[in-house]
Amino acid sequence: MPPALAAIAAGTPCGRCGVELRSHYFVANGHVVCESCRERLRGSGSAALGLGLGAAVLCAVLYYVVYLIWHSNFVLIAVLAGVVIGLAVRRGAQGSRLQRFRFMALGLTYLCVVSTYAPALMEMPGVDGPLHAAVRSLYLPFLMLISMKNPVTLILLGFGLHEAWKLSAPHVVNVDGPFRVLAPVGAAHGAVAATTDA
Ligand SMILES: [Zn+2]
Repeated sequence: MPPALAAIAAGTPCGRCGVELRSHYFVANGHVVCESCRERLRGSGSAALGLGLGAAVLCAVLYYVVYLIWHSNFVLIAVLAGVVIGLAVRRGAQGSRLQRFRFMALGLTYLCVVSTYAPALMEMPGVDGPLHAAVRSLYLPFLMLISMKNPVTLILLGFGLHEAWKLSAPHVVNVDGPFRVLAPVGAAHGAVAATTDA
């Protein structure tokens, strides 16, 4: 067990959630944390997917709100989606070093951005109905890449994907512990004597 960084008295609040530390604690990147915060710091696939998906839906809704109210094609949503989804996935992944979360951010950003192509596709000849437009939007960037049409749309998608990849990079959390907290003042004399070595 690594040595404690400092003696922590019982009742000291957790550095993340504020709960009072009673028996033991951990040190995550220099901050004193409780056991449940340490668990949360491990991150989880479901939390990353949940937050990422929520961010993707939010960005798509924002695009359609702008589209419906101002009839304007808010193309910068591609970059915004990359930033928001990248950060959301990283938040859910917490201290996990798994690279798959970055691919999750990429995938969600791609799906979110292509979902905003549907209105334009609906106006194209040969597209009958929203379902057809949705399916076509999935591979539209590849068609644009081959034909080199709509370079701005492609560049913005590229920026968005780049941001999602960059911002979902694992943020490393080094956790040490568990360490025992010192007995509170006024506790049994034996416990105080055992932990008071100064
Ligand atoms: Zn906590």
